[in-house]
Amino acid sequence: MSSTCSFSPTSPAGHISGSSRDASTPAVGVFGKSVMVYYRIFLVLILIHIVLANTSGNLNRRAPREECSTPFSQNQRDVIKQALENANVNIRRRQSIPSFVFDVYFNVIAANLSYVGGWVPDSQIVSQMTVLNDGYKGTGISFKYKGTTRILSSWYFNQIDVANTDGLEALLSGYGNIFRKGDAKTLNINLIGFSSDDEIDGFALLPSLYANYPQLDGIYVRYTTLPGGSSLYRQGSTVIHEVGHWLGLLHTFQDGCTGEGDDIADTPPEAEPASGCPTGRDTCPGGGDDPIHNFMDYSAEGCRNSFTAGQATRMHQTILVYRS
Ligand SMILES: [Zn+2]
Repeated sequence: MSSTCSFSPTSPAGHISGSSRDASTPAVGVFGKSVMVYYRIFLVLILIHIVLANTSGNLNRRAPREECSTPFSQNQRDVIKQALENANVNIRRRQSIPSFVFDVYFNVIAANLSYVGGWVPDSQIVSQMTVLNDGYKGTGISFKYKGTTRILSSWYFNQIDVANTDGLEALLSGYGNIFRKGDAKTLNINLIGFSSDDEIDGFALLPSLYANYPQLDGIYVRYTTLPGGSSLYRQGSTVIHEVGHWLGLLHTFQDGCTGEGDDIADTPPEAEPASGCPTGRDTCPGGGDDPIHNFMDYSAEGCRNSFTAGQATRMHQTILVYRS
């Protein structure tokens, strides 16, 4: 299943007032209520800025090669921990861990019909689904492809991000109201250009944010990272990593050697993100070697190949609380 939509203007104002689209695209009326839309955008923009303003530097360390701009805040971290603790009794009572299957929709945002413009071939989406399911093999979590929507908009393609004001403005302009599909159990994979920051490959919205920002929920990934893409990191594990955040996981290097770490007992602490594939690296006393092979580290793509049992359990807990 696929559909195509076209937005020709490149400026934010032109984009909103002059959009053109085919008849199959939903929610055209949202642009007709411009005053309410702008008011709502204003409110959401303020709230998102509050979230980002509370982001702790320790929680979102910059990597030697920054890969992921998923916004964490201590507040959101506390909210998730409390919710999981409250639900823990029920989870422990389960006789066995059920399997979870998520519907997946791709939104391919492209500036034009060329590959460099973001128009990825269907074959790469098929390959990405295979890589995604392979990455989660053994965790009880799997993903079922449901369809692709192709969206022509150089503004969305170039600007959407959470790491800067212009990117937030694009993200909050109504994009999600139009194109996001499903509910909290539905994974939306948005492919974008990240033209304003060539070091970031993706970000995700934590599950705790769904209650207030359902229209933004999903992961946003640089299109060149799909298997067979043109990025240096093009084996598809960027999507695996961002889905880990979408299911509540933190980076393995969270908090360095101190603090709460990533809240997972079987991922040894590490002082900083790994780069390359430094086998035997051990940057923190105790706990064992750094988890450089873990999908939630920043080590080289070919080096990352696993989640731990503790991470699988954490994802199950998160799903039962937020995504089931
Ligand atoms: Zn990340």
